[in-house]
Amino acid sequence: MELIVATRNKKKFKEIKAILKGSGLKISFLADYGKTPKIIENGKTFGENAIKKAVKIARFTGKLTLGEDSGLCVDALDGAPGVYSSRFSGKDKSDKRNNLKLLRLLKSLPLSRRKAHYSCAVALADNKGLFGLVEGRCAGLIGFALKGRHGFGYDPLFVIPKYQKTFAQLGEKIKHRMSHRYRALRKAGKIIKKYIEKH
Ligand code: IMP
Repeated sequence: MELIVATRNKKKFKEIKAILKGSGLKISFLADYGKTPKIIENGKTFGENAIKKAVKIARFTGKLTLGEDSGLCVDALDGAPGVYSSRFSGKDKSDKRNNLKLLRLLKSLPLSRRKAHYSCAVALADNKGLFGLVEGRCAGLIGFALKGRHGFGYDPLFVIPKYQKTFAQLGEKIKHRMSHRYRALRKAGKIIKKYIEKH
């Protein structure tokens, strides 16, 4: 069975595909689908945005679709950047600028006040609508400098306390075994399995 991943973010798609490897599904990238409806990510939660992506693309393609929305929530910033993670630095956003803004905002804070978590919501839909919504989280600390070259987004700043290294230093193998995305997709995988059995 084919599963469309409703994202145009290549790095995110690569991670999702790697994590779902072995599921028996044919995993398709939205960007290979040509023109598809534009999705405005104006939800207040990751879940709302993930649902929007899944339902809209499933309706358009008529196929089983996975919508994913994720971001970084920093305790000292009352959960920011949250759903605004990708556009944290504004109009001229980039991963680098987002990371530098975060470093600036946390400048005077000691490690004990740099707690954060990644959150990932995954929604599942087909042409009849939504049939699953799950969430995964991963706890960490925001480092004092960018470190490592793997991953994307805030990974060079996101320190995993157990390893005292950032996700960008740890690389895919470790990230894909403990990330917010992995945790959400593991739950989603179970729902997809049941769905396939019924159809
Ligand atoms: P979305 O495409 O609107 O879901 O944006 C997600 C944003 O959250 C990304 O652009 C990153 O800034 C951040 N983010 C989500 N997941 C990760 C991750 O696994 N590593 C690093 N940053 C992430």
